[in-house]
Amino acid sequence: MYEEGGECWVVDPGYYGPEEGADLLKFIEGKKLRPTKVLLTHAHLDHVFGLNDFLTHFPTIPFYIHADEMPVLQAAPEVGERYGLYCAAVTKAPEFLKEGDTLHFGNEVFEVFFTPGHSPGSISFYNKNNHLLISGDVLFQGSIGRTDLPGGSFELLEQHIQNKLYPLPDETQVLSGHGPVTTIGEEKAHNPFVRPLNN
Ligand SMILES: [Zn+2]
Ligand SMILES: [Zn+2]
Repeated sequence: MYEEGGECWVVDPGYYGPEEGADLLKFIEGKKLRPTKVLLTHAHLDHVFGLNDFLTHFPTIPFYIHADEMPVLQAAPEVGERYGLYCAAVTKAPEFLKEGDTLHFGNEVFEVFFTPGHSPGSISFYNKNNHLLISGDVLFQGSIGRTDLPGGSFELLEQHIQNKLYPLPDETQVLSGHGPVTTIGEEKAHNPFVRPLNN
């Protein structure tokens, strides 16, 4: 997220290899952006491949993660190796976020929701003012995050979608880790994997 010529936050730097990294840097330079934070919704490989590289380019900026996600982040290089993929270990120490924390982007406030189930420390970021939810791999258009990876739990995922995400206003736009933008209203009406309570 960004304001042209101003501050930007990078969520889940999952770019792979120098070419994809160069694309992101070119975008940042082209818009004259100043990265000030890296946020991780969770630490699966496809969300952290570029993390250490990005933090090396911008050594002064902090990165944020839920403490329960640290084992996943620490395992990433080894998990990558199993798939024949390179994921650098992160050398920088994180800042931890938990349920109810708030982050300020200019005048906008993003609230942290703890939404585990897809991974043990998944978090989502909610901006009430603009009806925006950054959901990571918790909720997708017509789908939900897989729960068969280490630390995953369908029961936890379902519970947090029902209790934390579905109560948000219907018009809330959901920016997922994969696939098209959806809304809370659309998912409450059509998502086949998690049905709203009292319906
Ligand atoms: Zn994931
Ligand atoms: Zn993902």
